[in-house]
Amino acid sequence: MATAVGLATDIARSAGVGGALSRAEGGEISSREVVSVSAWAQTKSTSRWCSFSRCVASPAAAAAAANGHLVKRSKPSSASLSSYRGLRRAGVTHSLSEPFSPHTLFRSHETAENRDGGNCPTGVQVRATLADVHVKSKVDATMPRGESWAVHKFGGTCVANAERIGNAAKIIVDDPSAQKAVVVSAMSKVTDTFYEILRLAESRDESYLRVMESLYQKHKETAFALLGPSDALEKFMKKLDGDISNLQAMMRAIFIAGHATDTFSDIVVGHGELWAAQLLAASICKEGVSAVWMDAREVLVVSPTSTQQVDPDYELSGERLDEWYQQQQAIPDILVITGFIASTPEGVPTTLKRDGSDFSAAIMGALLLAKSITIWTDVDGVYSADPRKVSEAVVLSTLSYQEAWEMSYFGANVLHPRTTLPAMKYNIPIIIKNVFRPSFPGTWIGPSTSSDQDPAISEESGSVKGFATIDHVAIINVEGTGMAGVPGTAGEIFMTVKEVGANVIMISQASSEHSICFAVPETEAKMVAKALEIKFKKALGAGRISKVEVLRNCSILAAVGQKMASTPGVSATFFTALAKANINIRGIAQGCSEYNITVVVDQEERIRALKAVHARFYLSKTPVSVGVVGPGLIGGTLLEHGIDLTRWKEILQEKGEPADMAKFTEHLRAGYLSPNRVMVDCTASAFVAEHYDDWLQKGIHIVTPNKKANSGPLQQYLKLRNLQRKSYTHYFYEATVGAGLPIISTLRGLLETGDKILKIEGIFSGTLSYIFNNFNREKTFSGIVAEAKASGFTEPDPRDDLSGMDVGRKVVILARESGLQLELEDIPVQSLVPEPLQSVETADEFMQGLPAYDLQIGEQLEEAEARGEVLRYIGVVDCVKNEGSVELKSYPKSHAFAQLSGSDNIIAFTTTRYRDQPLIVRGPGAGKEVTAGGVFCDVLRLAAYLGAPS
Ligand code: ADP
Ligand code: ASP
Ligand code: MG
Repeated sequence: MATAVGLATDIARSAGVGGALSRAEGGEISSREVVSVSAWAQTKSTSRWCSFSRCVASPAAAAAAANGHLVKRSKPSSASLSSYRGLRRAGVTHSLSEPFSPHTLFRSHETAENRDGGNCPTGVQVRATLADVHVKSKVDATMPRGESWAVHKFGGTCVANAERIGNAAKIIVDDPSAQKAVVVSAMSKVTDTFYEILRLAESRDESYLRVMESLYQKHKETAFALLGPSDALEKFMKKLDGDISNLQAMMRAIFIAGHATDTFSDIVVGHGELWAAQLLAASICKEGVSAVWMDAREVLVVSPTSTQQVDPDYELSGERLDEWYQQQQAIPDILVITGFIASTPEGVPTTLKRDGSDFSAAIMGALLLAKSITIWTDVDGVYSADPRKVSEAVVLSTLSYQEAWEMSYFGANVLHPRTTLPAMKYNIPIIIKNVFRPSFPGTWIGPSTSSDQDPAISEESGSVKGFATIDHVAIINVEGTGMAGVPGTAGEIFMTVKEVGANVIMISQASSEHSICFAVPETEAKMVAKALEIKFKKALGAGRISKVEVLRNCSILAAVGQKMASTPGVSATFFTALAKANINIRGIAQGCSEYNITVVVDQEERIRALKAVHARFYLSKTPVSVGVVGPGLIGGTLLEHGIDLTRWKEILQEKGEPADMAKFTEHLRAGYLSPNRVMVDCTASAFVAEHYDDWLQKGIHIVTPNKKANSGPLQQYLKLRNLQRKSYTHYFYEATVGAGLPIISTLRGLLETGDKILKIEGIFSGTLSYIFNNFNREKTFSGIVAEAKASGFTEPDPRDDLSGMDVGRKVVILARESGLQLELEDIPVQSLVPEPLQSVETADEFMQGLPAYDLQIGEQLEEAEARGEVLRYIGVVDCVKNEGSVELKSYPKSHAFAQLSGSDNIIAFTTTRYRDQPLIVRGPGAGKEVTAGGVFCDVLRLAAYLGAPS
């Protein structure tokens, strides 16, 4: 007997079930009660031992086992036979000197078997392991605890159907840990459905019966698919049928009462976990590994707190765990535990609140002093932001407990916020893994180390790990000059909030103590405001508190990272990113913990805000949503060259809708595409330009070659520029003058560097440039115009070019850019359209009438040539005289303007810095390609302003 206990002690030790020893040593082993044994075997080619478990022995064999009897393979007894089968199935080679785990070794044994050509055990030495011995006296027996335990938790999606439950079972069986506890959630959507059933029954809606039937069917079908015809199926169905009939009775009572108490609700909704745990345990058994399921309400004790939360009672839960253990017939390989549900100290069923299974797993991990807690879910780990909202989010390989807590508290529902606390208590790491990609390492959450640098995080992102949002939040603002210096106001405010049971998510107080503002869930705002108004009735009446204000439709956005808030520049970058996306910040809080910076934004801006900050910290690219108005010549070219939208024409044909500016603006503004929005107006329409104001106010940037806004009424222009300056929105219009030529940017560069513009003079019209570059004595003016028209250098009606109005607009744009306050009407424009032809109907009539005026302009040409000069149609901005003009002038042949060819533009800036020799910009200044190029250049410039690396 002593030998048996000694051997068993060795085995138990190496098996990591040291906790079982006291029981065996303290108890009296009775051979009749030995129901299972473990065996050790030596193989032919190695001096190693094989170990396996789970073989049921006859009382006689068990007695032999207890006495250290050696069972030869050639003469199998009933015990050795089953042992040997077990060994074939689960046995593993292992050196006795190391602690082993039967299931790791299971696989290594198979390998050894293959290698050694069927290296079967030569003998099986059966010994009782203490864990498998049923003892008479259970007084001192305690559940084994320690690092041999691995805790796993499977979320709803991981057990959503039979196939996934089977997959979860395999993952567990494959875990080489010596002992495994598996916490399981209800099958996906089941808890929601239970709450729906409760709601229906409470509102006396009979359809709850139909919904309950669907839940029954779901579990029945899953059980059939998973377990096939088997004892296990029968057992499960019996339980399910029994539960359903109980539930029906309960729901009927709720239906009649029109109300469910919290306990009733908790009993009902907990069934999802009860059924899932039984299904998973049965599924594991099907894999040939023993598993029992535990109703966590028998073990887990929690006390409700005043804030709708529960606090675990570790001591009581530990005692209950031991009691549960003592009632077991044998220690199973795997323990499957219901998540989410628990009991109060009085034994009343309760829950750990929504998404509480993560918390259950962490508490179990702490109770068992496990080596790890693995949370299996449907994503690769904790992402830098909710992957459903930010598609570019990256998986974080490590997080500290505090960071994980902050992320989950501020809305990353991949982890229940309270999960980290029990794990932290014993430094147990939590690993988040994807059930659909078990090979991916996932996210490791544990104690922080100073050298933590997540490879997923670029250096520029500094210490920011991730971002999260909480929606449906209201801000309560208590304001008043009488609050400053009055001790206890804050205390009274939060006492009042506590009394009504509201949950304060965030607090912010300006140091002047003039106002205290805090965030609560929107549903609780009214109640809180009312309570505060009652509490501070006197102060409000006396004017010490001026108002209790509720700001609805808010969201909280938090940036989380170790020491982030103390790293210089991080908050600046965070706020700048929001400002650049034109997002208004309604409140700020920075925890002294330095783990987070929290801001309150309008709920409708939350996704844009999240994307904006995420892009700023994590991406090398700056995403911009682009709306193009007028996909004609320039817009079309832009879409073809600048932006890869291979099928835009077909899509526009197939799905295009009639233009509706308001709808289009809203679509772009919705911001689901990117935090930054730009409208590219490729029209020449004054109607479209009228929308700029609205766009800028809505935080939409503008890029345009359309001259209408900048050359329209001065007041409107000034308002637009002012608006743009005040906000973080950008307005770029390089292509309004000189198409792709850098004219506006050159002018700005000069001004910004302190130069003073004296004069801007240039040939701003490609058409008129062409006409006068080719006009000589051999050709008539009308002939040249016809030639230009035929080559597509003119507008369909050449009068639009010859009238000089287009050049006039460019002069106004440049004049205003230089600081002159001129209207288009202030610019004398010399029209080249002869007076009588200005009113003729069609372009053709105009072309027919034009030759009659060739003589007049021909004379001007001759006079100029006689002086050795050429004619050029130019625009002038005279900053000294504060005026502008458009006229036909002659220039010496040596002048830069005379050297022009084709349809080039040329612009000369005479400034205090470039006084003797003007600064000249020259090149093609018209045509769809160069204009679209200029527009695209502005879009890229915008991206750079928004934070794209240059
Ligand atoms: P389970 O049922 O497994 O507990 P949950 O739905 O509770 O799963 O949590 C996982 C989900 O959390 C993911 O599918 C993901 O959409 C969401 N989520 C939100 N924020 C994050 C984040 N920062 N990282 C990862 N997942 C997140
Ligand atoms: N099934 C519960 C819920 O949906 C608990 C959990 O899944 O974590 O809230
Ligand atoms: Mg969850």
